[in-house]
Amino acid sequence: MRIRSLEIQGFKTFPDKTVLQLQNGITAVVGPNGSGKSNLSDAVRWVLGEQNVRTLRCTKMEDVIFNGTPQRKAQGYAEVTLNIDNTDRALAFDKDEVAVTRRYYRSGESEYLLNHVAMRLKDINELFMDTGLGRDGYSIIGQGKIDAIVSAKSEDRREIFEEAAGISRCRYRKEDSERQLSAAEDNLVRLNDILAELK
Ligand code: ATP
Repeated sequence: MRIRSLEIQGFKTFPDKTVLQLQNGITAVVGPNGSGKSNLSDAVRWVLGEQNVRTLRCTKMEDVIFNGTPQRKAQGYAEVTLNIDNTDRALAFDKDEVAVTRRYYRSGESEYLLNHVAMRLKDINELFMDTGLGRDGYSIIGQGKIDAIVSAKSEDRREIFEEAAGISRCRYRKEDSERQLSAAEDNLVRLNDILAELK
């Protein structure tokens, strides 16, 4: 799996459609302070479903939308697409090219697309689980992340190793099943109460 390109429009410092092509090898992004270098990694985090506004260096989700300058008016929505080469099928999706898009409007409406088809955030999270790139991934190491890992509680550190070992998906499914079981048990209790009342 390889990221081929990142398309950004209306996200933070990028009001116009901007395409960053990632060639084989190492890509370095250089620019003056405040020009938007870190906003590129924020865009990758965001398109992969990041919900924590602090991680995105914002105070509210609307802050990811280009908020205008004296010369340019603010945009109404932000959109980011991550194009991935999936010829090795590292993502459990039977296509050589995978495009994940997230769109967010000032109204608070948001959508995720997988190869132009609307998806739930849950599906995007599951797709990237165990690849290192997803929600609990370690592919993006931001400032202070190493310190945070070293000083994290052992249970939190364990999550990073679980992702690397490829068992995050199993843990996630186990937790999901436990939630469903618990909901089913609650329903049974309610049903038994109703039955007892009817007797
Ligand atoms: P440094 O080298 O100092 O770390 P950088 O190149 O990584 O800087 P970023 O942190 O990516 O820069 O970008 C910061 C800039 O992004 C700030 O100038 C900030 O005003 C701008 N910015 C953040 N959110 C928005 C937004 N919603 N609309 C317009 N500009 C924004």
